[in-house]
Amino acid sequence: MTILNRWAALAATFLALASSQSFAQDCPKLGGVLALTGAQGAIGKVIADAGRLAVEQVNKAGGVKGCQVEFILRDDTTQPSVGVDAARFLVDVQKGACLYCQKPLSGKTQVDHFVPWSRYPADLGHNFVLAHDRCNGAKSDFLAAENHLAAWIDRNKVHQVELQERLVASALPCDLTATVQIAKWVYEQTEKANGQVWVMEKVLRHLGPEWVRCFAA
Ligand SMILES: [Zn+2]
Repeated sequence: MTILNRWAALAATFLALASSQSFAQDCPKLGGVLALTGAQGAIGKVIADAGRLAVEQVNKAGGVKGCQVEFILRDDTTQPSVGVDAARFLVDVQKGACLYCQKPLSGKTQVDHFVPWSRYPADLGHNFVLAHDRCNGAKSDFLAAENHLAAWIDRNKVHQVELQERLVASALPCDLTATVQIAKWVYEQTEKANGQVWVMEKVLRHLGPEWVRCFAA
């Protein structure tokens, strides 16, 4: 995603959040892990500044439903290993299995945004999942189907305490309540738009209303 597209996605998200009736009362936090120093620092700073500017404008205009939006960034110093190290505990939490196909992680493994970055440009820790390179590649920028949603919600619930502790220890921005609200909002928007979700490999289908049950469990 280009810098301009990231900025546009961030701005679009704020506008959508500000007008959403379904977004709950908790004040939203946005942010991510970016290269703010090192070889990619110049690019990361432009993205960070654009994000900060968007947040400032939203907050000056009264915030989102009366809440001031908090913007949190962590510098990965252009070393991909920082993000990889921070997410390594996901191997324990997912018991060494891919969140999507549930098969053992072997070969190339990716840290994926469960709710795609293109749908909500924030790196909140609970949104990270480990997946096979091929599963992540096949899912691409699609929202995951209900069985994957159920697996993600279950993982975050069962390992809530451990996840919170380890995300905080890794200095990764995290807020489970906000992350769940964001996911709900994105699924709601996708259903309203008769959008498609990713099932497996190249299989996509339209999202039906049954996704709501995953959040009720
Ligand atoms: Zn897989």
